[in-house]
Amino acid sequence: MRQTRILIYGETDGESLSSVTRELIGKSQDLAREISGASSLEYSLALIDDRTENCRAELSSYGLSRVYIWQDAGGFRADRYAGLLAETVRREEPDILLVGGTPEGRSLAPRVAAEFRTGITADCTELGLDTENRLIQTRPAFGGNIMAHILTPDRRPQIATVRPGVMSPARRTAHCPPPEWILCKNMIQTSAIRLLETRPAEDAEGIDTCRLLLAVGGGVRDREDLEMFRELASLLGAGLAGSRVLVERGFLPPESQIGLSGHSVRPRKLITFGISGSLQFRAGIRQAQQILAVNSDPEAEIFRAAHTAICGDLYEIVPELIGRLRSG
Ligand SMILES: Cc1cc2nc3c(=O)[nH]c(=O)nc-3n(C[C@H](O)[C@H](O)[C@H](O)COP(=O)(O)OP(=O)(O)OC[C@H]3O[C@@H](n4cnc5c(N)ncnc54)[C@H](O)[C@@H]3O)c2cc1C
Repeated sequence: MRQTRILIYGETDGESLSSVTRELIGKSQDLAREISGASSLEYSLALIDDRTENCRAELSSYGLSRVYIWQDAGGFRADRYAGLLAETVRREEPDILLVGGTPEGRSLAPRVAAEFRTGITADCTELGLDTENRLIQTRPAFGGNIMAHILTPDRRPQIATVRPGVMSPARRTAHCPPPEWILCKNMIQTSAIRLLETRPAEDAEGIDTCRLLLAVGGGVRDREDLEMFRELASLLGAGLAGSRVLVERGFLPPESQIGLSGHSVRPRKLITFGISGSLQFRAGIRQAQQILAVNSDPEAEIFRAAHTAICGDLYEIVPELIGRLRSG
């Protein structure tokens, strides 16, 4: 029986698994169910991190075959981590390598692809298998106007980075055997990269993780008008994000942008104000559970994606909402 192997590059947020790592495991679980013919699929994980103790119980419940843990990795350096990931690829010999489309993953995956002289598809939004169990790597192309389906027919591993927030997280598997834990000793102590300074990233109010999110767009006329949205967000306990138009106007920081060239968000409820609903914006809201859209144009595209549509002027609706919330 032909076995397909997936290797996932795991990342942590402090001491727990990052959400994109859970999403890559979730997608591997789906592919293991989908695999056709007399084939089977197993998936393993590489963790190049010194603080992985807390993840072990969780990792035991996802049906992983092996977990490689690199010890004494000495902190992130793209060249050193890429060397350790490449070494894991040599040991595991996967058909497919999945890496999160995070700053860390994006700096590692091309280095590993170059090392193995294989292809890489960056920022995939969907993954599947064809009839020969080759990875179908799907990503938007030509400004998001088409979805490209890309194969790496000859070289291995097939490498894909995956956009955070677009795939469903891993599900715990009842009664699965724990993975084989493979402790590896870091053999690459040097790095050509010298760290001069670290600065905390600008706070974008965690739009990737907000349960309730307000998104504002080109219908907002002036920078000062954002104040009423900040007040509404604060009264509702929501995050504030926007379309690219507002980022380009300098009203919001780039970290707040939703969409194809911004963030993918997965709030329970998303409320949009003055957003037309372009294809590129909608690419970032596919995982939102409930969408309420406010737009003055009854033909606005956003209404096709919304569960609740309010056709009206945001400059009337928002102050009224604030007034009602203030008065309890
Ligand atoms: C390669 C590429 C990548 C892109 N990536 C992104 C991306 O990541 N994210 C993104 O958002 N865009 C992206 N874009 C841009 C995208 O094509 C659109 O231009 C953009 O999404 C439009 O933003 P908007 O709907 O907020 O603004 P507009 O197109 O200006 O629409 C404003 C909307 O507000 C409504 N409106 C106006 N006044 C009011 C009012 N008083 N009350 C209520 N409604 C009102 C209007 O009816 C209209 O529907 C990308 C484009 C390209 C080519």
